[in-house]
Amino acid sequence: MYLSFDDGPNPLVTEKVLDLLEKYNAKASFFCKGQNARLYPDILEKIKSAGHTIGNHSYSHLNALNVTNKKWLIDALRKSPVSDSFFFRPPYGKIFPWQCYRLKKDYKIVFWDVLTYDYRIDFTASKVIKIARKKIRNGSIIVFHDTIMAAPRMLPALEDTLKHYSQNGYRFDKL
Ligand SMILES: [Zn+2]
Repeated sequence: MYLSFDDGPNPLVTEKVLDLLEKYNAKASFFCKGQNARLYPDILEKIKSAGHTIGNHSYSHLNALNVTNKKWLIDALRKSPVSDSFFFRPPYGKIFPWQCYRLKKDYKIVFWDVLTYDYRIDFTASKVIKIARKKIRNGSIIVFHDTIMAAPRMLPALEDTLKHYSQNGYRFDKL
C-alpha cells in the first residue's frame, strides 16, 4: 500500500510520523504545502533523507471551487522547496479538467482511494482506525494529514495500520 501525508511539514507532528515509519521499515509520500516547506526546511530535509517521496500540494492550499482559475493555478505552480516535485496532489482533491491539463505538463497528479477522516475533530481515534481497516486494499493509496489538528487521530491510526498490515504481509511503498 502507499501511505501518504498531506499538508505538512509540521514541526510537532512530521517527525513523529517519520519515527513510526522507520520503526516499521515503511516508505511513504509527503504532499507538502509550499509555504510549510519554506517555513520548515529542516523537517523537509529529514523527510528526504529518510528516503520518502515528496510531492507538491500547492503553495497555500486554495480550494479550486472557491477561487478563480488564474488565482488557483498561480498558487498551485508557485515556486517553493517542493514545486519541482514529480507528483502533485490538488488541495481538497478539487481540480477542474482545464487545470488538470495545465498541471499535467509539469506533474503526475495523484489522488487517493482511502480517506480516513483523520482531520475530523468530532471523530475518535478508534473510529478512524476502524475506517482505515475497512477501506484498505492491496495497492491502496491512503491519505493521512501530518498536522496538529489531525495528529490525535492520525498517529494512533498510522501505528495501527503499520502494525496490523505488516503482520498481514503488506509492504509500505512510496509513490
Ligand atoms: Zn490538503
